[in-house]
Amino acid sequence: MQKNWIEKKADDFLIHPNLADYDQVYETFKWEDVASNFQGLPSGGLNIAHEAIDRHANGSLADKTALIWLGESGERKNYTFTEMKKESAKFANVLTSLGILKGDRVFTLSTRLPELYIAAIGILKNRSVLCPLFSQFGPDPILQRLVRGNAKALLTTKNLFDKKVRPLLDQLPELHTVLLIDAPEDESDQIRSLKQMMETASDTYEILPTDPEDMSILHFTSGTTGMPKGVVHVHKAIYTHWMSGQYVLDFHPNDIYWCTADPGWVTGTSYGIITPWLHGVTNVVDEGEFDAVHWYSTLQNEKISVWYTAPTAIRRLMRLDIEPLKEYNLSALRLIQSVGEPLNPEAVVWGVEKLQLPIHDNWWQTETGGIMISNLLSQQIRPGSMGRPLPGIEAGIIQRNDDETVTEITEPLKEGELALKPGWPSMFRNYLHDDARYAKCFVGGWYLSGDLAYKDKDGYFWFVGRSDDIIKTSGHMVGPFEVESTLMEHPSVAEAGVIGKPDEMIGQIVKAFVSLKAGFEPTEELRRELIGFGRKRLGSAVAPKEIEFTQNLPKTRSGKIMRRLLKAREMGLPEGDISTLED
Ligand code: ATP
Ligand code: MG
Repeated sequence: MQKNWIEKKADDFLIHPNLADYDQVYETFKWEDVASNFQGLPSGGLNIAHEAIDRHANGSLADKTALIWLGESGERKNYTFTEMKKESAKFANVLTSLGILKGDRVFTLSTRLPELYIAAIGILKNRSVLCPLFSQFGPDPILQRLVRGNAKALLTTKNLFDKKVRPLLDQLPELHTVLLIDAPEDESDQIRSLKQMMETASDTYEILPTDPEDMSILHFTSGTTGMPKGVVHVHKAIYTHWMSGQYVLDFHPNDIYWCTADPGWVTGTSYGIITPWLHGVTNVVDEGEFDAVHWYSTLQNEKISVWYTAPTAIRRLMRLDIEPLKEYNLSALRLIQSVGEPLNPEAVVWGVEKLQLPIHDNWWQTETGGIMISNLLSQQIRPGSMGRPLPGIEAGIIQRNDDETVTEITEPLKEGELALKPGWPSMFRNYLHDDARYAKCFVGGWYLSGDLAYKDKDGYFWFVGRSDDIIKTSGHMVGPFEVESTLMEHPSVAEAGVIGKPDEMIGQIVKAFVSLKAGFEPTEELRRELIGFGRKRLGSAVAPKEIEFTQNLPKTRSGKIMRRLLKAREMGLPEGDISTLED
């Protein structure tokens, strides 16, 4: 069925996957060879902004649409590569004129406005460091990140500034300039009107020599397992971005691409800004928040061909009584990729049934800077598996020993920690102000991810859980993902979050929090039915012994289930850092 589907799609679109023979490409791939896809700076070195925008504007893609922006209230703006080049040049000139220079941290706090994307490129042109914040953060997480990140400038809107940042100004002595996107004029030497400054700025900007190892982006992690960490990236990361754009997102020149992630999270920068433009692909940005009807309409109206989204969004679509292919024309759509959380097998199957496209899972982290493991277009998907390591990426399953060494587990299906051989180009270069924590991630020639997984005999990786979330019950180790995925196979279950609840007898009891699909009532009868269903499918050692219905599971603003919060609440313990908790 899979095979037919690939052949059918290839014929429909006259497009053949960039990676047809995984084994052959994996064997022969060399990172050095990626360099030929870049131009290099005329002044010397490698700069993300030049490779993503300027070289296209200087070449045959000058008049091609780079950005299609869809505003929250229905507005629409298109920018060509030339327009992006000019606008980002103006922004870089604004920064330079304010004395904001190489290495200075420029934070952004904005909804997905065109100015955010223009600024991101302008900041990189200026060789400053792009530090994106999620616009829905409250004042505390904003303050914490601005202080930790040594913010020198902040780009934001009047409204967000007044509500969230103005009251903090006296706690931010290092903050030199605030650029307000929509202020008609300057308020003071510190609080400036971006609009006014852009009007007088020159639209040419020569990027100064940039070392591939120069810092480019500072990203904070999602805070799923604790206090968010500041992750340092460099310009050279585009080697990974280009490679994954080629092989995972399978970019072809006529693609229209939509990444639903906000640039406040790493997916929204690496794949919502940089990667499509490295490939000269048209990038759709939708300012609005999730809304099923609106999303299906965007897929239809913009003729999206490659769509990068997240399990939380897919699960929300699955909850609803919409028959997408009957109600919308999605004939342009040819590839769906998903990241951020484990993708339940049920979701892959739903994709095939409802969209006639499987959903391809891929795995990576803020720390890895780009996709590391993926289900590729030309490979058979094994629902529930994350796929295989990308060309240039060596992944393994590792066991930590008592003497602080590690051993690779080569035996198939045996669980351990997912690890990568260091040295891929987008590998993080540090945790901000935390060299010791960074050093601890590397043991015995591996980068240890903190996620648990196993590998099957064909080299497909299967996610088990985060090491912090693993449940120890009666001498067994239980990964929450397996239990959650099984519960989701029951027709009533929309979403599940599974934790280990301390128990004197057996260590931990497997407890599931379950939210139901529309039309199902949280009755005692259903609760018992689900317990029975779990037992039948998982066996009594692994099945949840307790089930609690809840309307919504606590999630990060990027849509990840926060199991540590379910657990803290269950046990009446302090909630810890909740700066990234969804409202
Ligand atoms: P923090 O490190 O602050 O706790 P976080 O790990 O959620 O937050 P991110 O870097 O945004 O921050 O997320 C990376 C993590 O997301 C991975 O380590 C993994 O646990 C999870 N993840 C990402 N993609 C997948 C996937 N395809 N399958 C399973 N888990 C995934
Ligand atoms: Mg993490």
